[in-house]
Amino acid sequence: MQNSETTLDNMPDIQKAEHLLHEVFGFEEFRSLQKDIIENVLQKRDTLAIMPTGGGKSLCFQIPSLIFDGLTIVVSPLISLMKDQVDQLTAYGISAAFLNSSLAPREYQNTMDQIRRNELDLLYLAPETLLKSNILNLLSGLQVDCFAIDEAHCISEWGHDFRPEYRQLAEVKNRFDDAVCLALTATATPQVQKDISNSLGLTDANKFVASFNRKNLYLNVITKTGPLRQTIEFLEDHKEQSGIIYCFSRKQVDELTLDLEANGYSVLPYHAGLGEARRVKNQEGFIRDEVDIIVATIAFGMGIDKPDVRFVIHYDMPKNIESYYQQIGRAGRDGLQADCLFLFSYGDAGKIRYFINEKTGEERQISEEHLQQLMDFVEAQQCRRIKLLEYFGEKFTEENCGMCDYCTGDVSDSENITVSAQKFLSTIVRTEQRFGFHHIKNILVGSRRKEILKFNHDQLSTYGIGNEYNRKEWKQLYRELMRQDIVERGAEHGGLKLTPKAMAVLKGEHELFGVIEKQERKRTVKASKSEIESLDFDLKLLKLLKEKRTELAGEEGVPPYIIFADTTLMEMAYYFPQSEESLLKIHGVGKTKRQRYGDAFLDVITEYCTQHNLQEKTKKRSSRKNLKKNPISRSKRHHQVGQRYNEGESIPEIASFYEVKESTVINNLTKFIQDGHSIRPDRLRELSDLSNEGFERVVTKFEELGVELLKPVFEALDEQVPYDELRVVQLYMMAEE
Ligand code: ADP
Ligand code: ZN
Repeated sequence: MQNSETTLDNMPDIQKAEHLLHEVFGFEEFRSLQKDIIENVLQKRDTLAIMPTGGGKSLCFQIPSLIFDGLTIVVSPLISLMKDQVDQLTAYGISAAFLNSSLAPREYQNTMDQIRRNELDLLYLAPETLLKSNILNLLSGLQVDCFAIDEAHCISEWGHDFRPEYRQLAEVKNRFDDAVCLALTATATPQVQKDISNSLGLTDANKFVASFNRKNLYLNVITKTGPLRQTIEFLEDHKEQSGIIYCFSRKQVDELTLDLEANGYSVLPYHAGLGEARRVKNQEGFIRDEVDIIVATIAFGMGIDKPDVRFVIHYDMPKNIESYYQQIGRAGRDGLQADCLFLFSYGDAGKIRYFINEKTGEERQISEEHLQQLMDFVEAQQCRRIKLLEYFGEKFTEENCGMCDYCTGDVSDSENITVSAQKFLSTIVRTEQRFGFHHIKNILVGSRRKEILKFNHDQLSTYGIGNEYNRKEWKQLYRELMRQDIVERGAEHGGLKLTPKAMAVLKGEHELFGVIEKQERKRTVKASKSEIESLDFDLKLLKLLKEKRTELAGEEGVPPYIIFADTTLMEMAYYFPQSEESLLKIHGVGKTKRQRYGDAFLDVITEYCTQHNLQEKTKKRSSRKNLKKNPISRSKRHHQVGQRYNEGESIPEIASFYEVKESTVINNLTKFIQDGHSIRPDRLRELSDLSNEGFERVVTKFEELGVELLKPVFEALDEQVPYDELRVVQLYMMAEE
């Protein structure tokens, strides 16, 4: 290898590998199986490595390539990814190049020269390029030590992506007698595995299968009631994050793109109807963080290696579990938490069934099976990971994964809502179809609001009988009734009116079903927060570091993540490294990246720290394990505050105990509730300086605009009510719910 160091020469190979992991890549430790696979490869035993997307397959040949004297050939069908991978390797200071049909003649010639001069550690090739006789002849004359076959499932006709040229690789492999063969894939079905082993002559002893459980993906399946609204609600929690939304049809993609654009989101479409140039441009925009969201058909994703995709939404139902798994797998490659939302409806399932019915014979049978498996996954009343992993032949036995809607108590089922609907409808009738939703709901929950008393509506027989739902849930019931065409808004005053369908419900002749989501979007457990995520990093500094990264990426014409991953910047914004030495301890900073980009980032950090009087914190290499034992005290503060409050301490008392402002305590309590705890609402009202009327006015606004965000309410009230007051009302409402 070219960048070998004398110190390396006497080390055992696996120690060299570990050394390179730290020095070149700046990573702390190998992930599960990486070490075993690399050890096997270094001993020149042909190996099959099966790991999920994002599992870290690339390192398994990249590190050996630096230890071997000769060349490592990497065969990959994904032409669009080769440049990206080579760019990444170059950023790490590794000598790599690629050959495929996308190269201009001059570039092609350059790479050929580099090969002839033995300058490369790694050469990426498309299979059809490798099979050309001139290339084969050239390579046969060189010392090739490793022959890596990426996406090895392409060899199998059973795989979802069979490529005939891959079949011929078995023969080519035999030409490189001295090279160890490493086949890698993220496809785990036993049939495909067997096919790969058979065609390449691999033995089971050298097969390594990693778990397909992607711990950092939060899996959530909800019933599709209003997909656009549900999507926007979700996006509100994912501001400025990268994500993909999958739709069934091109038309849906176009429509949703427009809708989201109209709602102020940064979004671009992607589907086969757009034409090559547009597609490439939109994909690039996404990879380079110029746009947050891609709305796409399944055509999108194969050539995407973006590590920081934070969410995937299935706006429509995927075809089968395998595609679902593959698509959500594009999120969270960097190991940080990512959210997967699946909007499910029986209508969508019906659509898929329609297409299945067009098929015949075995094809039809297979598709039916696939759909059934997907339905089992959706309908299962158990941890989502059980069915998902079962599909890949893996048994998931953890009691609570902490990262799915079921395990965190977020599941929502269609339930019989007839009785509540009858209460709602009869209240509309009793108030002569003159009032809007809020008034009807206030009667049902027994509000003492002025306008209720004014109309003597506290005397109605339905007054206060709606305890089964909170305000938000009544709103959902109301939406459900609108959706099912049971109530409508009157043309004149917007009062709710019954439609002809409503009578049957009132009389009990027709039962209603719908979804009332309890505690929507609230997580009770977050088991899988990685250690880096639980760091209390400085958000402002993180933003500055990201800006610097974007700037450098622009100058070099590469995606930002090639400069540094998010995880790296997050650690910088926590440890505030201010010397080259401490920078090297940061996750993802190896020697070359330090040399190339270190100063630019050190400048940002140093300036920020001087301005804000911040000191560097020491990070020990591999200190990640220690972090767990040393949780950041501030993140726990809101739990202590919540407990104290519930044990009877007042807010002023708590504030003086911690020597903080009362508004801080209120913030802490809000967080406490958002974490899924509850607090008693009784004494909260007293905290407010607002008049009763003023208080009610704010409550109504929150009801209209949602209780999560303060700014919309602040603006809707003409900026007249200060934020501190809004926080009190917000807390009051959250506590009530
Ligand atoms: P795959 O090819 O299996 O989909 P990659 O090789 O692209 O996965 O790796 C996914 C991400 O994980 C990359 O950003 C890579 O840098 C990172 N990674 C791989 N191995 C490690 C490790 N041992 N420590 C930290 N990060 C790693
Ligand atoms: Zn679970």
